[in-house]
Amino acid sequence: MPNPSRNVLLIDSTGRGHAIADLFQRSDPSVQVFYGPGNPSVADERICTVPDISLSDPESAVRFCQARAIDFVFVSHIDALSTGYVDFLKTNGIPTIGPDRAAARLEASKAFTKSLLQRYNVKTARFAVFDRPEPAKCYIRGLDYDVVVKADGLCEGNGAYVCSDQASALQAVDSIMLARAHKDAGNRIVVEERLFGVEISISALFDGKEFLMFPAALDYKRSDDGNKGVNCDGMGSLSPHPLADKTLYREIQTEVLEPLRAAILGEGLKYTGFIYIGAMLCDDGIKVIEINVRLGDSEAEAVLPKVQSNFVRLCEGVLLGTLSSMSLETDDKCYCNVVAAQGPTLRLDEHGREIRYPGWPHGDFEVGFPISGLEAVNCRNSRLFFANVRRDAEDTLVTAGGRVLHVTGIGDNYAQAVHHAYANIEKIRFKGMSYRSDIGLIYGSVDAMRQRREISSLPWTWQMPRGALS
Ligand code: AMP
Repeated sequence: MPNPSRNVLLIDSTGRGHAIADLFQRSDPSVQVFYGPGNPSVADERICTVPDISLSDPESAVRFCQARAIDFVFVSHIDALSTGYVDFLKTNGIPTIGPDRAAARLEASKAFTKSLLQRYNVKTARFAVFDRPEPAKCYIRGLDYDVVVKADGLCEGNGAYVCSDQASALQAVDSIMLARAHKDAGNRIVVEERLFGVEISISALFDGKEFLMFPAALDYKRSDDGNKGVNCDGMGSLSPHPLADKTLYREIQTEVLEPLRAAILGEGLKYTGFIYIGAMLCDDGIKVIEINVRLGDSEAEAVLPKVQSNFVRLCEGVLLGTLSSMSLETDDKCYCNVVAAQGPTLRLDEHGREIRYPGWPHGDFEVGFPISGLEAVNCRNSRLFFANVRRDAEDTLVTAGGRVLHVTGIGDNYAQAVHHAYANIEKIRFKGMSYRSDIGLIYGSVDAMRQRREISSLPWTWQMPRGALS
């Protein structure tokens, strides 16, 4: 019997949102996705942008649901989740997937999450929490290991200061608490042990009782080539993670997901939807670094294209609490996502004086530049996901923010996926466009990789200069 067609409202507006909308329509032949506030540059006859829906006004979503026959709402933007969007929709009787406001603290407060992880024996770095700078500095002076200093609240991915010495850690405390670099998000800080190893991005869908694990990814969080620059939302990712084999997935299941599930249930958190767990594969096991209450972005653009299961059915499993009886089908391809961001630009003001914009994420950046070359992108070996792309008055696609778009290359191996990502992103142009040229290379972690598994057995033929395959 054919499945009945569903109307879904997706609350998001990012590249991740585009990837989720794309998964809905790609995996279900009849679903109609309403995407609010969405992104008007996303052109697909079964993805309809609803700009009247606001991330800060759940009433706008309720009105839309009452006017249209919406079967369920999927909320995946932290601005909405952290302010109780899901609570409001559910109170209005609308079937909704997403953590409620209390559960969203898993992302909105690092201190809350660290304490929860500790109480439920989820392995994580040693830490302490401070509300004032002096005790934090005193604590740092007494340590004989490097630390990461983190603002407690939401900081758009740049609130963690990974420090290589005591001086930079003390400086980080001052930046967050005295210079108030992250405003109120830095009223409280977490000082935690710096971990060394291989990072891994774990994604799973949760129905309030059980997790369904998605393919893991390797994320590139630093802004610049060579894994230099600042931590930002992410400049690219690979999926599956190069170390993802059955043994590692089993370890994630028993060492991370099961205790985390016990923590969520034990605290009575009302949580459904995607969860992202950033973790480090250390010599003495896997340790959790952070939790996001939605998919990671730029991981979503590399992980979700692998999924072959009908996502509407999986969401219905979440709503019914029957995810444990379902499985996830994925393809056997490799995916490499490279982010095209707004880099530095130079402009003359009305007096002919130069104004220099450092570009995202280093400072101010310009927007509104026409984007060309999109039609040349080969959709057989890559996917395009729009983050900050808009239409101007002439209906031209223009830039509208820091991370503009994502190009995800597809391949039978990592080398091909990386090659296809770069071969296609190089066709795209906008003023000041910048992207990392080294997504796919491994930094500082080869030794740790070698310890976990014989390096020669890894499919790392992609550690070759770009262009070698063309
Ligand atoms: P967070 O803001 O907690 O997501 O951290 C951002 C990034 O900082 C992570 O993806 C890691 O690259 C790095 N990081 C955070 N905590 C640690 C840690 N304890 N040890 C090493 N690196 C870390």
